[in-house]
Amino acid sequence: MKIGVPREIKNHEYRVGMTPAAVHELCGHGHDVYVETDAGTAIGFTDDDYRKAGAQVLETAAEVFAAGDMIVKVKEPQAEERAMLRPGHTLFTYLHLAPDQAQTDDLVSSGATCIAYETVTDHHGHLPLLAPMSEVAGRMAIQAGAHCLEKAMGGRGVLLGGVPGVSPAHVAVVGGGVVGQNAVAMAVGLGARVTVLDRNMDVLRRLDDLYGNRITTLFSTAQTLDQAVTESDLVVGSVLIPGASAPKLISRDMIQRMPEGSVLVDVAIDQGGCAETSKATTHQDPTYSVDGVVHYCVANMPGAVARTSTLALNNVTLPFIVALADKGPIEAMRADPHLKAGLNVADGKVTYREVAEATGHPY
Ligand code: NAD
Repeated sequence: MKIGVPREIKNHEYRVGMTPAAVHELCGHGHDVYVETDAGTAIGFTDDDYRKAGAQVLETAAEVFAAGDMIVKVKEPQAEERAMLRPGHTLFTYLHLAPDQAQTDDLVSSGATCIAYETVTDHHGHLPLLAPMSEVAGRMAIQAGAHCLEKAMGGRGVLLGGVPGVSPAHVAVVGGGVVGQNAVAMAVGLGARVTVLDRNMDVLRRLDDLYGNRITTLFSTAQTLDQAVTESDLVVGSVLIPGASAPKLISRDMIQRMPEGSVLVDVAIDQGGCAETSKATTHQDPTYSVDGVVHYCVANMPGAVARTSTLALNNVTLPFIVALADKGPIEAMRADPHLKAGLNVADGKVTYREVAEATGHPY
């Protein structure tokens, strides 16, 4: 198969759909890979690295879209990229179509087969191509929170781990899923005093097994949440109710009662955020304060560590890229229902119920 990897053009997007190592593997399977010039330069993957891996480097996105039968990206295609899609193309990337009418309409009219990373499933019923970004965001949440606790950032001037003779900071992690587990790992590693809240007892049991009395696990109720949040230096918001907006668990009143200079990192901001006071921010201007509490609410945290995120994403997408290329998209999806769960648009139709419902396309 001929595979095209264009340079990402969304604002401040430095990730790339395939690493040189992934290209090398596809070429080893007898496929041809076409990479746009400078597709990975910003994160240290040079055109020469791609050439050495077996790719042909092309000057423009138009050439890459013309050469490839399958287009592998990271972010949803922008309007000018959508105009280059055609019937016979397979597009494999994050799409997030439900809230994006214009993109859905364009993909339907393109006639391309569009497989979304975010709806591919695994045999546990999880979303394996979303998990690495949650791992990155969970780990970053503690790094970002620790930085925000510094005085210069408006924080209360507290070091997460304390020092001998001085207490460590209190960290509350609200939601112990993929983001939460990774935040807990980092916070424990830095020596903070960690409390994690969840409503799923299996999640709390697993964390308790892992960390024993180095952390406190709490079943999340209005009361336990109120106490944990208002006593913490750093709160990480990492709840998710699949398919729904994040519940507003942290009220403005709780924020008012947090210590002056404490920090909220609301990772769930991409689902609307789990605090009443949260609103989305960007890496250019990541924080703002409400009632003396520093809020960090960046909606695309993994973008800041684009090299790590690209490598983590390729680890999970590569087996699917190989299957799609080796078998062709129709046979690959027939053989693997989890990959087929990623199919959102095909033959000029929306093929994913929630996207059809949200965008008014027939299903
Ligand atoms: P997940 O499903 O693995 O975990 C969510 C957890 O929240 C589950 O364990 C669930 O039981 C728990 N939960 C639900 N209701 C709760 C309540 N009332 N109190 C306490 N816990 C509750 O999800 P995840 O992969 O960890 O993602 C968490 C959020 O982070 C999602 O909204 C995701 O989209 C977001 N996210 C954001 C970024 C970013 O850059 N900002 C990056 C990755 C993920």
